Amino acid sequence: MTTPSAELHALPMPALARLLDEIGVGARHAPRVFQGLHRDGVPLDRIGQLGRHTARIAAATTPTAATFDAVHDNPDETRKLVVRFADGARVESVLVPMRDDRYTLCVSSQVGCAMACAFCATGTLGLTRSLTAGEIVAQVHLARALVADERRRVSRLVFMGMGEPLAAYDAVLDAIRILLDPHGPCFGAKNITVSTVGLVPRIAQLAADTGGRIQLALSLHAGTDATRARIVPIARRWPIAELRAALEAWPLPGSRALMVEVVALPGVNDGPADLDGIADFMRGLRGVVNVIPFNPFPSAPFRSPTDAEVLAMHRALSARGVLAKIRWPRGRGVAGACGQLMLAEPVAD
Ligand code: SAH
Repeated sequence: MTTPSAELHALPMPALARLLDEIGVGARHAPRVFQGLHRDGVPLDRIGQLGRHTARIAAATTPTAATFDAVHDNPDETRKLVVRFADGARVESVLVPMRDDRYTLCVSSQVGCAMACAFCATGTLGLTRSLTAGEIVAQVHLARALVADERRRVSRLVFMGMGEPLAAYDAVLDAIRILLDPHGPCFGAKNITVSTVGLVPRIAQLAADTGGRIQLALSLHAGTDATRARIVPIARRWPIAELRAALEAWPLPGSRALMVEVVALPGVNDGPADLDGIADFMRGLRGVVNVIPFNPFPSAPFRSPTDAEVLAMHRALSARGVLAKIRWPRGRGVAGACGQLMLAEPVAD
């Protein structure tokens, strides 16, 4: 039985159909309701042709409440959106312009984060709570409405905002189901990236639940367990060898590659042992390393690498046969770059 206060926007199509059946509206109305909520992005009472069913659905459900608290525009055209939910909890989402009329939206999965990675601003906040699927999807709806006025669209989603998506597993999976649904926003699976700190059993579960069709990114950050444990506390639980096995088992579609993220921290993870370890990790995997220059935040125990240091790390990985790219920062001016999301007012670099 679905509870009387089911969160309407958190229900994937099959769950919505079940609910409509249970409350006597009939499952056949599910596609129209779902399309109104998730493709057209309108409230329940603006979905046409439901007649008296509207009141029944309204009585049995709660809509997801999400509003903009602020929108910060960065000179590089990156936009940081502060989103507030019914209980006052807030998260940040980031719109990153791509070529043509497209944006990538970086979404949050939790209010704060429990992982406490040493180089991440969100990690300093601790965890307040996970978002619901409705709250994750709401970030997409709000961003789409914002860019519709500019005649641009959100074509890619990355779960790289606040939180560890695989620690909010059920909500993230339901959100992905809603976002992929042909009756809804209908994102392509290859355009949804889930980035994880590396919760090994959940990687296997995500592979099973999505068939490996979505894009997986692993935050590796080091090539030795000793260095990784220094900067990613959860590494003590899941050694690199187990992460490697989890990626190996990912059912990767033929044309695609896994993404492996390495934050550039000079003097911490750019020594020969770590670089060799990263190269060993990548050997035999169809994957690309993304080198991410460390983005600073107040109280950060590290400094930003110089461009020369980032280039040197990239060169050292390439020399070891690793396919690597550099993800140059976007959105630093509004504290909207990777690892800077901490709900503080923007500060200059
Ligand atoms: N919890 C998920 C998603 C969070 S962040 C994960 O760990 O993957 C997305 C990426 O930004 C991760 O690779 C994360 O390690 C990286 N990141 C975090 N803080 C950063 C910082 N200060 N500078 C650069 N990248 C950072």
